[in-house]
Amino acid sequence: MPKTIRVHGSIKDNRVAPELVNERKNKKFDEVEMCNFLNGEAETKARFDFYKIRDEDPVLSHSHEFYDMTVPEKQMVLWKKVHHMYKHYKDELFLNFDPTAEPFFHWPFMIQGTLPAGMHFLMGYVAMATLADEEQKAYWLPKLRSWEVIVCYAQTELGHGSNVAGLETTATLDEATDEFVLHSPTITSTKWWPGDMSRFSNYAIVYAQLCVGENKYGVQPFLVQTRKRETFEVMPNIELGDMGPKFGYQSKDNGWLRFDHCRIPRKQMLSGFSKINKDGEFEMLGDLRALYAVMMMVRLHIVKNAGYCLARPVLIAVRYAIVRRQFKTQVGSKTERKIMDYQTHMYKLGPIVARSFLMCQAGRMCSENHARMLKLIKEKDFSTMDMHHHFLSGYKSLFTEWALKGIEDAR
Ligand SMILES: Cc1cc2nc3c(=O)[nH]c(=O)nc-3n(C[C@H](O)[C@H](O)[C@H](O)COP(=O)(O)OP(=O)(O)OC[C@H]3O[C@@H](n4cnc5c(N)ncnc54)[C@H](O)[C@@H]3O)c2cc1C
Repeated sequence: MPKTIRVHGSIKDNRVAPELVNERKNKKFDEVEMCNFLNGEAETKARFDFYKIRDEDPVLSHSHEFYDMTVPEKQMVLWKKVHHMYKHYKDELFLNFDPTAEPFFHWPFMIQGTLPAGMHFLMGYVAMATLADEEQKAYWLPKLRSWEVIVCYAQTELGHGSNVAGLETTATLDEATDEFVLHSPTITSTKWWPGDMSRFSNYAIVYAQLCVGENKYGVQPFLVQTRKRETFEVMPNIELGDMGPKFGYQSKDNGWLRFDHCRIPRKQMLSGFSKINKDGEFEMLGDLRALYAVMMMVRLHIVKNAGYCLARPVLIAVRYAIVRRQFKTQVGSKTERKIMDYQTHMYKLGPIVARSFLMCQAGRMCSENHARMLKLIKEKDFSTMDMHHHFLSGYKSLFTEWALKGIEDAR
């Protein structure tokens, strides 16, 4: 762990404004201690370890050219970074991947842009590890870790997002062939939004209504191949595409997906909590609330990242307020004053900084609660889920609103 934090200057030639150097000299707190307070010691160490690797590596380090690239150019650069990471950290980061203990868990979020196929590890892997049965995990998880199989998480449909029970995609058991037939019966049943779905993944965890003859058993998760592993050609009876331009998050491949009587083996219904045998007999093995745990993981990331998403722009605003000067209002001084020295400006930025700290802290607390909940769910104990869900839902709403408002105020 370093004793001080390396100061980054301008992205192009790493120059630091002298005003910032002076301010840092006069600071009244220990910066490493502050990082530990914000991130926790283990995460701070993981971050520093990764920053060191990233900043000294020409493929991984930030570049000013990135900002002028088109979306496909950005995506290509990001894929090169993933490939580079795979080549150099294959064992630590990929083959031995553990979503709770991996050494640079946050590396996808610390490279410039948004990691392509980040959903694979963030949602796909976690969904598989949580919802599959032991046999499915033993077969599929090594393939996910080696990225032979790249999985997106296809839950939301055009017609239903929040209301998961209202999803319309059907998975009907064909007992004669021992297969499920996936179908999108309406326009509104089109899978809509999932990240990395149209081009970057070759499999999807698809949420669909399980139908056996006249019986319906609710929404269940299925592993569906969407593209060929070698060539990435789209599989038969599947249609998919990119959602098109967005205001932000450009390097993320948000897509749409439809099924036209697409067949998958019966064994690809994820069966950790409910299963169906080849005679069509349905059995509940556990609590279906486990399906919800994956969405909670994503909510956790939003809660956790909202603090960092606010911290970054307010950091820019604070730095700017130190180098930007307006009016020679100080008696005896010939230079204009830093805008940070005006109380009204400090009054604008101070609370935003404080909020971002508070949000990071609350995010850490939620992470710890989440890890505890997942451990208990594995033992079929759901007792902490309800309260954790309340915290996550409340914080997600509040923190994303604070982040948006804070960014606007800092602007
Ligand atoms: C960038 C991005 C990436 C995404 N990635 C994925 C992904 O990888 N996989 C995936 O499956 N999905 C993904 N989604 C979809 C996301 O999960 C849905 O957008 C989300 O579930 C909300 O659904 P919706 O957009 O249909 O909104 P709706 O359900 O239509 O809700 C819109 C608004 O209606 C109101 N509302 C709805 N229901 C209620 C209620 N019961 N009480 C009070 N108010 C209510 C709220 O104001 C809510 O914000 C992604 C979305 C985005 C924006």
